[in-house]
Amino acid sequence: MERLQKRMAQAGLCSRRTAEKWILEGRVKVNGVVCTTLGTQVSGDDVVEVDGHPIEREEYAYYVFYKPKGCICSVHDEKNRKTVMDYMPKDRRIYPVGRLDYDTSGVLLMTNDGQFTNEMTHPRYHLPKKYIVNLQGILDKEDIRKIRKGFSIYQPAKVHMLETDITRDRCRFELTIFEGKNHEVKNMMEELGHHVQRLHRAAFGEIELGDLHPGEYRILKPYEVKQLK
Ligand code: URA
Repeated sequence: MERLQKRMAQAGLCSRRTAEKWILEGRVKVNGVVCTTLGTQVSGDDVVEVDGHPIEREEYAYYVFYKPKGCICSVHDEKNRKTVMDYMPKDRRIYPVGRLDYDTSGVLLMTNDGQFTNEMTHPRYHLPKKYIVNLQGILDKEDIRKIRKGFSIYQPAKVHMLETDITRDRCRFELTIFEGKNHEVKNMMEELGHHVQRLHRAAFGEIELGDLHPGEYRILKPYEVKQLK
Protein backbone atom coordinates (compact mmCIF):
# COMPACT_ATOMS: atom_id res chain seq x y z
CA MET A 1 0.00 0.00 0.00
CA GLU A 2 1.18 3.54 -0.65
CA ARG A 3 -0.22 7.04 -0.50
CA LEU A 4 -2.30 8.10 -3.47
CA GLN A 5 -0.18 11.18 -4.20
CA LYS A 6 2.98 9.05 -4.13
CA ARG A 7 1.49 6.61 -6.64
CA MET A 8 0.61 9.51 -8.94
CA ALA A 9 4.08 11.01 -8.68
CA GLN A 10 5.63 7.58 -9.16
CA ALA A 11 3.72 7.24 -12.40
CA GLY A 12 5.78 10.19 -13.63
CA LEU A 13 2.64 12.29 -14.01
CA CYS A 14 3.42 15.15 -11.68
CA SER A 15 5.15 16.06 -8.42
CA ARG A 16 3.61 14.95 -5.12
CA ARG A 17 2.59 18.54 -4.40
CA THR A 18 0.72 18.83 -7.72
CA ALA A 19 -0.85 15.43 -7.05
CA GLU A 20 -2.18 16.77 -3.75
CA LYS A 21 -3.64 19.80 -5.51
CA TRP A 22 -5.37 17.62 -8.11
CA ILE A 23 -6.76 15.33 -5.40
CA LEU A 24 -8.21 18.32 -3.51
CA GLU A 25 -9.67 19.66 -6.78
CA GLY A 26 -11.63 16.40 -7.19
CA ARG A 27 -9.83 15.39 -10.40
CA VAL A 28 -8.73 11.99 -9.09
CA LYS A 29 -10.76 8.79 -8.87
CA VAL A 30 -9.86 5.56 -7.10
CA ASN A 31 -11.76 2.55 -8.44
CA GLY A 32 -14.24 4.84 -10.13
CA VAL A 33 -15.00 6.99 -7.06
CA VAL A 34 -13.76 10.57 -6.70
CA CYS A 35 -11.25 10.76 -3.85
CA THR A 36 -10.45 14.10 -2.21
CA THR A 37 -8.73 12.71 0.89
CA LEU A 38 -4.99 13.32 0.95
CA GLY A 39 -2.99 10.31 2.07
CA THR A 40 -5.56 7.73 0.96
CA GLN A 41 -3.77 4.38 0.78
CA VAL A 42 -3.90 2.52 -2.51
CA SER A 43 -2.57 -0.87 -3.55
CA GLY A 44 -1.23 -1.99 -6.93
CA ASP A 45 -4.68 -3.44 -7.74
CA ASP A 46 -6.53 -0.15 -7.24
CA VAL A 47 -7.31 1.74 -10.44
CA VAL A 48 -6.35 5.40 -10.20
CA GLU A 49 -7.66 7.89 -12.77
CA VAL A 50 -6.83 11.53 -13.31
CA ASP A 51 -9.37 13.52 -15.33
CA GLY A 52 -10.85 10.20 -16.40
CA HIS A 53 -7.54 8.70 -17.66
CA PRO A 54 -6.15 5.66 -15.82
CA ILE A 55 -2.51 6.04 -14.80
CA GLU A 56 0.14 3.41 -15.31
CA ARG A 57 2.78 2.69 -12.71
CA GLU A 58 6.17 3.80 -14.03
CA GLU A 59 8.81 1.09 -13.95
CA TYR A 60 11.52 1.66 -11.40
CA ALA A 61 14.87 2.53 -12.95
CA TYR A 62 18.29 2.57 -11.27
CA TYR A 63 21.41 4.13 -12.73
CA VAL A 64 25.03 4.56 -11.82
CA PHE A 65 26.24 7.95 -13.01
CA TYR A 66 29.85 9.13 -13.18
CA LYS A 67 29.37 12.56 -11.65
CA PRO A 68 31.97 14.96 -13.00
CA LYS A 69 33.38 17.78 -10.89
CA GLY A 70 31.53 21.05 -11.38
CA CYS A 71 27.89 20.03 -11.17
CA ILE A 72 25.46 19.94 -8.30
CA CYS A 73 23.29 17.12 -7.01
CA SER A 74 19.91 18.84 -7.21
CA VAL A 75 17.19 19.07 -9.73
CA HIS A 76 17.38 22.89 -10.06
CA ASP A 77 20.00 25.44 -9.14
CA GLU A 78 19.07 29.04 -8.51
CA LYS A 79 22.57 30.07 -9.60
CA ASN A 80 22.04 28.29 -12.92
CA ARG A 81 24.98 25.96 -12.45
CA LYS A 82 25.07 22.60 -14.20
CA THR A 83 23.15 19.93 -12.30
CA VAL A 84 23.36 16.14 -12.51
CA MET A 85 19.95 16.23 -14.24
CA ASP A 86 21.58 17.81 -17.31
CA TYR A 87 23.31 14.48 -17.96
CA MET A 88 20.40 12.10 -17.39
CA PRO A 89 17.56 10.84 -19.63
CA LYS A 90 14.66 13.29 -19.63
CA ASP A 91 11.82 10.80 -20.11
CA ARG A 92 11.43 9.95 -16.41
CA ARG A 93 11.58 11.74 -13.10
CA ILE A 94 14.74 10.42 -11.53
CA TYR A 95 16.68 11.85 -8.62
CA PRO A 96 20.14 11.50 -7.09
CA VAL A 97 20.48 9.05 -4.21
CA GLY A 98 22.11 11.31 -1.63
CA ARG A 99 24.62 13.98 -2.58
CA LEU A 100 28.17 14.56 -3.65
CA ASP A 101 29.64 18.06 -3.36
CA TYR A 102 29.95 20.35 -6.40
CA ASP A 103 33.68 19.62 -6.69
CA THR A 104 33.48 15.88 -5.86
CA SER A 105 33.46 13.36 -8.71
CA GLY A 106 32.58 9.69 -8.93
CA VAL A 107 29.83 7.17 -8.30
CA LEU A 108 26.37 8.63 -7.89
CA LEU A 109 23.28 6.44 -7.95
CA MET A 110 20.15 7.86 -9.55
CA THR A 111 16.62 6.43 -9.40
CA ASN A 112 12.90 7.11 -9.43
CA ASP A 113 12.39 4.70 -6.49
CA GLY A 114 11.85 6.92 -3.47
CA GLN A 115 11.87 4.06 -0.99
CA PHE A 116 15.22 2.85 -2.30
CA THR A 117 16.61 6.39 -1.93
CA ASN A 118 15.32 6.62 1.65
CA GLU A 119 16.89 3.28 2.54
CA MET A 120 20.26 4.11 0.94
CA THR A 121 20.50 7.49 2.63
CA HIS A 122 19.17 6.45 6.05
CA PRO A 123 21.74 7.04 8.84
CA ARG A 124 21.39 3.43 10.00
CA TYR A 125 22.29 2.11 6.56
CA HIS A 126 25.92 1.04 6.70
CA LEU A 127 26.92 0.21 3.16
CA PRO A 128 30.60 1.06 2.51
CA LYS A 129 31.37 4.10 0.38
CA LYS A 130 34.93 4.21 -0.91
CA TYR A 131 36.60 7.56 -1.65
CA ILE A 132 39.97 8.50 -3.10
CA VAL A 133 41.19 11.51 -1.17
CA ASN A 134 43.94 13.91 -2.27
CA LEU A 135 44.98 15.71 0.86
CA GLN A 136 47.02 18.83 1.52
CA GLY A 137 49.03 17.62 4.49
CA ILE A 138 50.10 14.15 5.53
CA LEU A 139 48.09 11.74 7.64
CA ASP A 140 50.31 10.70 10.53
CA LYS A 141 50.01 7.53 12.63
CA GLU A 142 47.79 9.25 15.17
CA ASP A 143 45.40 10.53 12.46
CA ILE A 144 45.14 7.03 11.01
CA ARG A 145 44.54 5.51 14.43
CA LYS A 146 41.72 7.99 15.05
CA ILE A 147 40.08 7.37 11.68
CA ARG A 148 40.22 3.59 12.20
CA LYS A 149 38.86 3.79 15.71
CA GLY A 150 36.26 6.51 15.09
CA PHE A 151 36.53 9.99 16.60
CA SER A 152 34.38 13.01 17.30
CA ILE A 153 31.04 12.31 15.57
CA TYR A 154 32.53 9.84 13.06
CA GLN A 155 32.15 6.06 13.03
CA PRO A 156 35.27 3.96 12.41
CA ALA A 157 36.44 4.06 8.80
CA LYS A 158 39.07 2.22 6.74
CA VAL A 159 42.20 3.95 5.43
CA HIS A 160 44.62 2.64 2.86
CA MET A 161 47.51 4.96 1.99
CA LEU A 162 48.33 5.13 -1.75
CA GLU A 163 51.00 7.83 -1.97
CA THR A 164 52.84 10.15 0.38
CA ASP A 165 54.77 13.17 -0.95
CA ILE A 166 56.69 14.65 1.97
CA THR A 167 58.43 17.39 -0.04
CA ARG A 168 55.10 18.79 -1.25
CA ASP A 169 53.36 17.97 2.06
CA ARG A 170 50.52 16.00 0.52
CA CYS A 171 49.20 12.46 0.26
CA ARG A 172 46.61 10.32 -1.49
CA PHE A 173 44.66 7.52 0.16
CA GLU A 174 41.52 5.39 -0.02
CA LEU A 175 39.00 6.08 2.68
CA THR A 176 36.01 3.80 3.17
CA ILE A 177 33.22 5.16 5.32
CA PHE A 178 30.13 3.31 6.48
CA GLU A 179 27.79 6.23 7.06
CA GLY A 180 26.91 9.33 5.06
CA LYS A 181 26.93 12.56 7.03
CA ASN A 182 26.97 15.85 5.11
CA HIS A 183 30.45 16.70 3.82
CA GLU A 184 31.65 13.82 5.96
CA VAL A 185 35.09 13.30 4.40
CA LYS A 186 36.02 16.99 4.19
CA ASN A 187 34.79 17.73 7.71
CA MET A 188 36.57 14.69 9.10
CA MET A 189 39.85 15.83 7.52
CA GLU A 190 39.36 19.44 8.66
CA GLU A 191 38.96 18.16 12.23
CA LEU A 192 42.30 16.42 11.84
CA GLY A 193 43.80 19.70 10.60
CA HIS A 194 44.05 18.83 6.89
CA HIS A 195 42.44 20.15 3.74
CA VAL A 196 40.91 17.94 1.04
CA GLN A 197 42.18 19.06 -2.36
CA ARG A 198 40.34 16.55 -4.46
CA LEU A 199 37.66 13.99 -3.65
CA HIS A 200 36.44 11.12 -5.81
CA ARG A 201 33.94 8.41 -4.87
CA ALA A 202 35.24 5.16 -6.33
CA ALA A 203 32.51 2.83 -5.04
CA PHE A 204 29.08 2.78 -3.44
CA GLY A 205 28.71 -0.72 -1.98
CA GLU A 206 29.78 -3.01 -4.80
CA ILE A 207 28.95 -0.46 -7.49
CA GLU A 208 31.97 0.98 -9.29
CA LEU A 209 32.40 3.12 -12.40
CA GLY A 210 33.98 0.48 -14.64
CA ASP A 211 34.32 1.87 -18.19
CA LEU A 212 32.21 4.97 -17.62
CA HIS A 213 33.69 8.40 -18.36
CA PRO A 214 32.75 11.54 -16.44
CA GLY A 215 29.19 12.56 -17.36
CA GLU A 216 28.18 9.04 -18.51
CA TYR A 217 25.75 6.64 -16.88
CA ARG A 218 24.57 3.07 -17.22
CA ILE A 219 21.51 1.20 -16.02
CA LEU A 220 22.15 -1.03 -13.01
CA LYS A 221 21.47 -4.71 -13.49
CA PRO A 222 18.74 -6.21 -11.29
CA TYR A 223 21.31 -8.24 -9.30
CA GLU A 224 23.30 -5.06 -8.61
CA VAL A 225 20.19 -3.35 -7.22
CA LYS A 226 19.47 -6.43 -5.08
CA GLN A 227 23.01 -6.38 -3.69
CA LEU A 228 22.50 -2.84 -2.47
CA LYS A 229 19.27 -3.52 -0.61
N1 URA B 1 32.22 13.76 1.86
C1 URA B 1 32.42 15.04 1.50
O1 URA B 1 32.99 15.82 2.25
N2 URA B 1 32.01 15.42 0.28
C2 URA B 1 31.39 14.61 -0.60
O2 URA B 1 31.05 15.04 -1.71
C3 URA B 1 31.19 13.27 -0.22
C4 URA B 1 31.61 12.86 1.03
